[in-house]
Amino acid sequence: MSFYIYKNSEQTGPFDESFVERELQAGNLSPMDLACIENSGEWSPLATFFPNEAQFQSAVQMTRHAVPKCLCCGAITEWKIEPVFLPRHWVIFIILLCSAGAGLIYLPLIYVIRSNPNSRAKICPACGARNMWTFQY
Ligand SMILES: [Zn+2]
Repeated sequence: MSFYIYKNSEQTGPFDESFVERELQAGNLSPMDLACIENSGEWSPLATFFPNEAQFQSAVQMTRHAVPKCLCCGAITEWKIEPVFLPRHWVIFIILLCSAGAGLIYLPLIYVIRSNPNSRAKICPACGARNMWTFQY
C-alpha cells in the first residue's frame, strides 16, 4: 500500500507503508495528519491506518509531558512560583540605595532576570520546599 499524506497544506507522496510507519514512530508525522491510500481518493487521519503507531506515539507524548515533581517530598503537583522580588532583594535594594544609589540599577536588573518564571524557584505546595529545578518524569 502507498499513501499520500496531507501535511502543512501540502500533499506529498506516495510513500510506502513502512516509511509512513517509521515517520509516525519518529514523530515526524502525527496520527492526526490526513492520509489517502493511492487511488482510493478517501482521506482519513493516519491513526485509522496505523492504530498501533498512533498508540505508540501518544504513549511517548505522555512520558514527555512536563510534570513537575518535588525533589523533597516527591509530590507531583502544580508549583507555586516565587514572587519576582523576595524580602532579601528589598534589603539589598535599600542598602545599595543608601550607599551609592546603585539600588536604582539593582532593582530593574533583578526584575529583568526574574520576570522569567524559569529563573525563580518553584515552591512545592505539599511540603513548602524550594525547588530550583523541576524534574520531569
Ligand atoms: Zn514537596
